[in-house]
Amino acid sequence: MTARRPLIAGNWKMNGLKADAELLAGGLASRYKALQKPAFDMLLCPPATLVSVVAGHIAGSGLVLGGQDCHASEKGAHTGDISAWMLRDLGCGYVIVGHSERRADHRESNAVVKDKAQAAQAAGLVAVICIGETEGERDRGEALSVVSEQIRGSLPAGATAQNTVLAYEPVWAIGTGRTPTPDDVAEIHAEARKVANQVMGGGGESLRILYGGSVKPSNAVDFLGLTDVDGALVGGASLKVDDFWAIAQACDA
Ligand code: PEP
Repeated sequence: MTARRPLIAGNWKMNGLKADAELLAGGLASRYKALQKPAFDMLLCPPATLVSVVAGHIAGSGLVLGGQDCHASEKGAHTGDISAWMLRDLGCGYVIVGHSERRADHRESNAVVKDKAQAAQAAGLVAVICIGETEGERDRGEALSVVSEQIRGSLPAGATAQNTVLAYEPVWAIGTGRTPTPDDVAEIHAEARKVANQVMGGGGESLRILYGGSVKPSNAVDFLGLTDVDGALVGGASLKVDDFWAIAQACDA
């Protein structure tokens, strides 16, 4: 069994001004830096406007930095977009692609997500590729097939356990306070690992697969204790130092 180092990732979404970023990133950086031997990686994904600010506050702490999205091209006439290379230039090591809010708000298909992930990997970033079923799909018993199809459609050729992280985020659990049962999460993650392993031609045992969707301090251990869950992608609770830190502590539980 390959040891997979847990990743606790915070997706700030469209939240925060400079002063908030200073408090949040600064607070987490000092806690992480004080650990003798952290048992988990901690990733902060602020909005693009705050990437540089956060980079300054986490420098030397061991925390890692990521964007929330990138364009599939390196540069060009794409007003308002940012490229993976630009994120890299600011000190990012990761970028989230295919978050369900982008799939919904910007009609991003699996093919678009795949191109973005490929760009991220070409720029030297780790692509955090999000997948997850809607409530209707779960009710119809389609969760496993939807997630499998998203993995097959969104993972680029060249995806490896080093340049890719998968995040299973059921759409109906994001920001709602509702979660799947641990058994449901375990079933999806086992299937996701199997499918990713097929797509990647091996190496799936080392791939980190995160759970996301209403993770909070009180339920983190239910998910982070599962065999195939290698961390969490956290939205709302990542905006509070104490809550996000408490979630990360579940990695040691
Ligand atoms: C997310 O946006 O990726 C997320 C999981 O949000 P929340 O934790 O707020 O449900």
